[in-house]
Amino acid sequence: MTPPDNDPRTEPFDLDYAPAPQSTAVVDIADEYGLFIDGDFVESRSGRTFATTNPATEEHLADVAEGSKDDVDRAVAAARNAYEGHWGALSGRERGKYMFRIARQIQERARQFAVLETIDGGKPIRESRDVDIPLSAAWFFYYAGWADKLEYAFPGRRVAPHGVAGQIIPWNFPLMMAAWKLAPALATGNTVVLKPAETTPLTALLLADVIRDVGLPPGVVNIVTGAGATGAALVDHTGIDKLAFTGSTEVGKRIQRATSGRRLPLTLELGGKAAHIVFDDSAVDQAVEGIVNGIYFNQGHVCCAGSRLLVQESVAEEFTLRLKRRMAVLRLGDPLDKNTDVGAINSAEQLRRITDMVDAGVAEGADLHQPDCDLPERGYWYPPTVFTGVQQSHSVARDEIFGPVLTVQTFRTPQEAVDKANNTPYGLSAGIWTEKGSRILWMAEQLRAGVVWANTYNQFDPASPFGGYKESGFGREGGLHGLAPYLRAAGRVA
Ligand code: NAP
Ligand code: MG
Repeated sequence: MTPPDNDPRTEPFDLDYAPAPQSTAVVDIADEYGLFIDGDFVESRSGRTFATTNPATEEHLADVAEGSKDDVDRAVAAARNAYEGHWGALSGRERGKYMFRIARQIQERARQFAVLETIDGGKPIRESRDVDIPLSAAWFFYYAGWADKLEYAFPGRRVAPHGVAGQIIPWNFPLMMAAWKLAPALATGNTVVLKPAETTPLTALLLADVIRDVGLPPGVVNIVTGAGATGAALVDHTGIDKLAFTGSTEVGKRIQRATSGRRLPLTLELGGKAAHIVFDDSAVDQAVEGIVNGIYFNQGHVCCAGSRLLVQESVAEEFTLRLKRRMAVLRLGDPLDKNTDVGAINSAEQLRRITDMVDAGVAEGADLHQPDCDLPERGYWYPPTVFTGVQQSHSVARDEIFGPVLTVQTFRTPQEAVDKANNTPYGLSAGIWTEKGSRILWMAEQLRAGVVWANTYNQFDPASPFGGYKESGFGREGGLHGLAPYLRAAGRVA
């Protein structure tokens, strides 16, 4: 069914918004940043630094110390001292007090964190303000509450911290990923060496400031900035007792190989290629919003992004039309504008990767659709993109793109939807849109995904565990489940 020219579903919809720029006055970016080791900012031993830039403008923001093997060594030694000196034996109640203070300071300085996150990483201020920063505070509040209740979390068992935890995080939710890592580790009595991502180190360093302000004892949290080599030095350090990694499946596999000869407890939170399934009885407009939110939120730099739309054949044409119409009114541009929906791609490298993968999709024969939108001249930008005419074998339907790129395929029966959804090496998340409760429950059981959202998408709560199946990794973050990877069994309660 082709809609007539005057069909309201396809008519252009033009609404201009006045600029609504977020003030950057709350943020004061230093020229240089050191490593945060043993409670102080210190230079790297090598004196080497790297630049972090604003991906929306390509403006140089600061030079940041690049941690070497020596620096990782210093940080692990500081964490060991802190663990053995006091932190490991401190009561949960006292640990919790520090964590509540961190949570409150994140709230008090929320605007500063949000603006800095947006400047350093390119995501819309609306997202950093309303999602990243509130969830980061929520994570600390939630795990602060567990710190003195571990005996109730694991009844009948005595548990103890591992000791020093090495933690490596990606650039897509810089502060939130730091919070997801630090909060459960501190609640359970571990000390930490954290390695933020190269392109987005600034909010982790602002968090270091908070950590100092709240009086967390030196060495409990150490932050060693740098690129992949710094991460590898942390992985290889024999002084860590636990390793937690969030990032790509490729690097995750490398880390698993590198640590396989050691008895090192490991959690891997890796990539995804989530199926987002729309049935013919779903509330169409809500489903369109859900699909758009699922893939274009944070420019698609989301491990659980709903990047594969599976739509029931009988409504596919109508649904795709409405989706394209909605895409046409997404506002792409200055991430600091409060009306912006789609911000900048995080780095030149990521932009290249997205461009290459989309080109491959076109070469394989999928149909590309991108709404007309003006891309700013400077900075790294990619328009919201949808592929139709996609086959299971197409690389755009198989590989994680980690950008604003959606593929559309159809199905006829629930079983076919399940088969297509599960036909992937990943298994992090999935979404279902249908009015039928029994179908939601049946689908959720069949889908091999760590998180399944129904009639919504991208909902996060610190009480809810998150993590993958298959090549999306193992271990869970969030909730009671998120405590377990930071604890070892220390016998039964007498
Ligand atoms: P990445 O390239 O794997 O990097 C992740 C982190 O590891 C970064 O800090 C990176 O440093 C560091 N690193 C790179 N090479 C390393 C090595 N050989 N040894 C140790 N550390 C190393 O991933 P990314 O591009 O930053 O992030 C995107 C990926 O993260 C996507 O695949 C996404 O799905 C996944 N992700 C998963 C979750 C989840 O919860 N499952 C959440 C968010 C993101 P540099 O950045 O400095 O290179
Ligand atoms: Mg940056």
